[in-house]
Amino acid sequence: MGNKLTDGRDVRFVLYEQLRVEALCRSERFQDHSGETFDMILDAAEKLAANEFMPTNSRGDEVGCTWEEGKVKIPESFHAPFRKYCEGGWLSMCEDEAVGGQLVPVVVDFACKEMFFAANYALAGYMGLTHSAAKVIEVYGTDEQKASYMVPLYEGRYAGTMNLTEAQAGSDVGSIRTKATRNPDGSFSIQGTKIFITGGNQDVTENLVHIVLARIEGDPDGTRGLSCFVVPQRRVDAEGRIVEENDVTCSGIEHKMGFKGSATCVLNYGDNGNCRGELLGPERKGIVVMFHMMNEQRVLVGLQGLAQGSTAYMHALGFARERMQGPAFGTKGPEQVPIIRHPDVRRDLLWMKCSTEGLRALIYYTVYCMDRLSVAADEEETLEWRDLVDMLTPICKAYATDRGFDVCTRSLQVHGGYGYCREYGVEQFARDSKIATIFEGTNGIQALDLFGRKIRMREGAALKTLLAKMYGDVEEAGKVPELAGYADDVSKAIAALDAVTKELLDRVSSGDAYTAYSWATPYLEVFGDIVLGWMFLWQARIACEKGATSSGDDPFYASKLDTARFYIGSLLPLVHGKIQAIMRNEEAFSRMEEAMFPDPA
Ligand SMILES: Cc1cc2nc3c(=O)[nH]c(=O)nc-3n(C[C@H](O)[C@H](O)[C@H](O)COP(=O)(O)OP(=O)(O)OC[C@H]3O[C@@H](n4cnc5c(N)ncnc54)[C@H](O)[C@@H]3O)c2cc1C
Repeated sequence: MGNKLTDGRDVRFVLYEQLRVEALCRSERFQDHSGETFDMILDAAEKLAANEFMPTNSRGDEVGCTWEEGKVKIPESFHAPFRKYCEGGWLSMCEDEAVGGQLVPVVVDFACKEMFFAANYALAGYMGLTHSAAKVIEVYGTDEQKASYMVPLYEGRYAGTMNLTEAQAGSDVGSIRTKATRNPDGSFSIQGTKIFITGGNQDVTENLVHIVLARIEGDPDGTRGLSCFVVPQRRVDAEGRIVEENDVTCSGIEHKMGFKGSATCVLNYGDNGNCRGELLGPERKGIVVMFHMMNEQRVLVGLQGLAQGSTAYMHALGFARERMQGPAFGTKGPEQVPIIRHPDVRRDLLWMKCSTEGLRALIYYTVYCMDRLSVAADEEETLEWRDLVDMLTPICKAYATDRGFDVCTRSLQVHGGYGYCREYGVEQFARDSKIATIFEGTNGIQALDLFGRKIRMREGAALKTLLAKMYGDVEEAGKVPELAGYADDVSKAIAALDAVTKELLDRVSSGDAYTAYSWATPYLEVFGDIVLGWMFLWQARIACEKGATSSGDDPFYASKLDTARFYIGSLLPLVHGKIQAIMRNEEAFSRMEEAMFPDPA
């Protein structure tokens, strides 16, 4: 593959050599596939992403979305690739044949989506939500709801949206005020205002299906009183024909720093008292239902961080090979060399290589665990794969999006002044990618999920499963003579993670929860750094098995081995300093009362 989206060789290395995804085809679910069909799918995705999505990216950013009298227009140039994606069956690719799918493993789909999100983040975002809406109806919907909404969503005739946020209810989902009132026919009247709704209105699909969190009148406050509803933009009859408009209006769109081709809408439900919704799943279990949609979205948002970082890195590489500046290192003469030869730039590029390859391994592995979960043979296997997915989900979401954004800004830096100018495209990656750290639960909320919930899940058993897996791979790598020292480094980092986890949990149980929670984000960062160390050691072992030497037949393996060595030898050691800071628990933090901050008012 030769495009500016992803490193296709690395994509295939993770899929086929690290995760050995062809082995999934031994299960009944994936039996119709093979490495060849996966390759065909990847090639087709690359074509669509590079030829149809990418050329519309910059134009979409320039023209953005427009709102007029309640109707939203997304960039005209998005329409054709949007339709091609839907007509090509990409939305339902991983689903059962009964719903038009081809039972492709999700990990292969994610490798394709990495290209789509790299090529045009705003455009690909519409598809991600549409798939999640279809999926949540597939899992929780009635037969009628599946026929009316899920099928046209998977076909891409309808698009899906996810509606949690209200002005007073951002991270605090329990404060949602949108109301649902029972009607005699079993439907509900919905009333309330949702803000920041991605794709809340657009002019491509014939209908929209809003998945909405609301509170049935009389139900308790907080998240435990929330229920989930399917609210069509236009009502459909039993035969699936669109019969009339529902009372859902879009009263405006946001003007944002990036992600401009994506319509971010204010949606008013039931302004005229005539908005009909249908309960999705059990009453007062809305948060569980919505979490089904959100968990899928969270790993997907992590992929978005990786994808934007990946294309930013590829752009930086292309630029650094061509941009000439002097003097050449160690000379005083006028000779100019490509900036990739300047040590500071090369270090930046290697940092970006480590970040994107490490994140790719982390995200693909997490999604591979989902595939393994879907074909688990017994309860024990189910528990193991679920533990791994649960533990890694907040890390994928938060660590990958923070790192992805950092890669975008470093790419901009490598471009110098040109990076700051529109023509080179990288400033758009920096602006676009920032949103991934904010939506789907801010990264701060992800850190709370990891520290407050996941590491205590099943009394710490899920964390133990993950640590055991990491130690197992470290032991394997330690048997390779070239890697023994690196395995020792990763092993020490995992031990330090274990120790800092215990220390923080001790602080919580000894009544110092406030300061313990103040470390949630640095803790997640350290966790992510160490998970990447594990991934690189695993990859280095494979590179060694393939005979990685600088004179080897395939330079990819030598490059992979040295990338892993650089990460473990130069970047991973930084975690010890970060952990030391957490362990020291500087008391100044506790003394820093609110009044000690300046008052800007
Ligand atoms: C472009 C865009 C698209 C979006 N798309 C959708 C969508 O499709 N559907 C949807 O429902 N929403 C969507 N959102 C909303 C998004 O999910 C919220 O913006 C996000 O959840 C944060 O809520 P908030 O903006 O109210 O910030 P707040 O919740 O006010 O958070 C502000 C800051 O405080 C921190 N914070 C808040 N509470 C806590 C706490 N308890 N502990 C620690 N830190 C805390 C946060 O981490 C954050 O840093 C979108 C937003 C944008 C900008």
